[in-house]
Amino acid sequence: MTTVHFTCSDCAQTIEVNDAMRETILDAGCPVCTAAATKEDFVATCE
Ligand SMILES: [Zn+2]
Repeated sequence: MTTVHFTCSDCAQTIEVNDAMRETILDAGCPVCTAAATKEDFVATCE
């Protein structure tokens, strides 16, 4: 199973995200500090 984690480059908060949350974060920024997010801030891992 693949999970995607977002790590904010600004506040360093790491959260697990689904596809919808990924789109929202790319659109609206970090949910914690609202810093702009890029695709490089998301890491997919297979578990
Ligand atoms: Zn942040």
